[in-house]
Amino acid sequence: MAIETLIELKMLIGGQWVESTSRDWIEVRNPATGALIGRVPAGTEADVDRAVEAAREAFDDQRWRGLWLPERVAILERLADLIDQHTPGLADMESAQTGTAVKLRRDSDIPFSADNLRFFAGAMRHLEGKSAGEYSTDHTSMVRREPLGVVGQVAPWNYPFMMAIWKIGPALAAGNSVVLKPATSTPLTTLKLGELAQQAGLPDGVLNIVTGRGDVVGAAMAAHPDIDMISLTGDSETGQRIQRLAAGNLKRVHLELGGKAPFIVFEDADLEAAARGAVSGGFVNAGQDCTAATRIYVQRAVYEDFLALLKRHTETVRVGDPSQTSTDMGSLISEDQLSRVEGFVQRAQQAGARIVTGGSRADVPGLTGAFFQPTIIDGLDQDSEIVQKEVFGPVLTVLPFDSEDEVLAKANDVRYGLASSVWTRDVFKAMRAARSLDFGAVWINDHLPIASEMPHGGFKQSGFGKDMSAYSFDEYTRVKHVMIELTGAAEKGWHYTIWGDAPEA
Ligand code: NAD
Repeated sequence: MAIETLIELKMLIGGQWVESTSRDWIEVRNPATGALIGRVPAGTEADVDRAVEAAREAFDDQRWRGLWLPERVAILERLADLIDQHTPGLADMESAQTGTAVKLRRDSDIPFSADNLRFFAGAMRHLEGKSAGEYSTDHTSMVRREPLGVVGQVAPWNYPFMMAIWKIGPALAAGNSVVLKPATSTPLTTLKLGELAQQAGLPDGVLNIVTGRGDVVGAAMAAHPDIDMISLTGDSETGQRIQRLAAGNLKRVHLELGGKAPFIVFEDADLEAAARGAVSGGFVNAGQDCTAATRIYVQRAVYEDFLALLKRHTETVRVGDPSQTSTDMGSLISEDQLSRVEGFVQRAQQAGARIVTGGSRADVPGLTGAFFQPTIIDGLDQDSEIVQKEVFGPVLTVLPFDSEDEVLAKANDVRYGLASSVWTRDVFKAMRAARSLDFGAVWINDHLPIASEMPHGGFKQSGFGKDMSAYSFDEYTRVKHVMIELTGAAEKGWHYTIWGDAPEA
C-alpha cells in the first residue's frame, strides 16, 4: 500500500511533541518516486539541549530506573506488542521513506525489531553485578552494575526502525534515559516508535527523539557535556568525527560502522547454495546493508561454474515499485547514493573490470526514482577501489583464488571488520577460517542471519562495541565496586603504612 497523505510529525522531548526552535522543517521524500511524503522539524543545538535536560531530569528523579522491575519489563513487552499490531503500517512507511522493498520491512526487520525488544525485556531481569567475594581478608566486595545516565544515539537510514530498536533496547533495559536521532532523511518510523512508546507507558523524558541534520543535531549530541555516552550506527568517517567531538567530556563511545564483507566459496562448497546465498546476502536492502556480501572470492576450479550460477540467479531479481510485494529490490536511498554507486562502477570499468550483469541505472516503468540494476563485476584486483571501499549499493565483485592461505589473507585485507562468510563442506577448513577471519561475525554456509541473543558489532574501522545480546549491556552500563569492611576495628593493621609506626612484631 502506498503512502498517499503527507505525514507531519513533530519531535518528542520530555513527553511533548514539539517543533524545532528554528521553526524550520525537513522534507521527507520517497526515493522511489521522488514524491514528498512528509516533513519533520529541523532540530537545532538548542533542541538537543532541551532533550538532554528532559532526559537528565527523568534519570535523576528515577522515573524509569526506579520503577518496579516487572513494570519496566511489562512496558517494553507492551511496546513489542504494539509494534506487532502496527507492523503493516510501519512497513509501508519504512518502505516509502527508504524506497526499499516492503516485504523486507513487513516480514523481516519490523518483526525482528519486536523480537529484539522482547529479548531485552527478558534480559533486564538477569542484569547483575558480581557478588560477593572476599578478595581482601577483612572485606566483602560486590559489584553494582548501573545505568550510565543520559545516552545519545545516532541512527542510519538503511534500516531506520530496526536500528532505532537496536539502540533503545539495551539502553532502556539497562535503565538509562535516551536522546535518539534518526537519520536526516528517514525520521518517520522512529517518530512513530516514539508514539508507540508513549502508548506502552514509557514515562515522559525517558525516550526523547530529535530530528534533523547529522552535522547539527548529531554533532551537538556528540559534543554535549551532559550526555554520558554516544552511540552511532553509520559511516566510518562519521564515527571518526563523533569520536573527536566526544573527547570534550570524555564520554563513552560506541560505534557500529561500515563493512565490506568477504564471501569465500571453496571448491568443495554446494555451489547452488552459495550462489543463492550471495544473491540474498549481496542484494539485501539493495546492497545498503553493512554486512552485505560484497566481495565474493571463488576457488579457481569452480570459478566459471559459480559465476554462471550467480549471474543466472542475479538476473531473476525483480527491481521495481517497492510498495509491491512482488518486488525484490526497490530503489536506493537517494539520487546522490545512486550517483555514488554509478561512479564506483564506472571507475572500475575504466580500470579494465568486466560487467558480468547489470552495471547501470534500472528502468522501472512509471517511477523516476533512484533504481540501480543488480550488478556483478569481475576482472578486478584485490587493491581495486571497488574491492576496498564500501559501495553501499547492489554491486558484487567476484575474484578468483587458489589457496586457503591466500584467500584468508585477501579476505582480511580491508580496513573494515564487520561480517564475513565461508562456504565449504569441510569442517576443518571452515573452523580454520572462523579462527583467522578478522570480522565480528563469521557465517559458515550462510550469510546474513542474525539473532537477538547474539552480539553484532565490528572490528578495525567497522567500530567497536556490540549491539543486541547481553553483551550490549557492557556498552550501556557501568560497574561499581562496593567494598564492605567486616571487623569494625577502628585501627587497621595497614594504617601504619600511611600514618604511625609499624606494630611491634
Ligand atoms: P552516516 O554516517 O551518513 O549517518 C549516520 C547518522 O549519523 C545519521 O543520523 C546522520 O545524520 C548522522 N551524522 C552524519 N554526520 C554527522 C556528524 N558530523 N556528526 C554527528 N552525526 C552525524 O551513515 P548512513 O549513510 O546513514 O548509513 C550508512 C552507513 O552506516 C554505512 O557505512 C553502513 O555500513 C553503516 N551501518 C553500519 C551498521 C553496523 O551495525 N555496523 C548498521 C547499519 C549501517
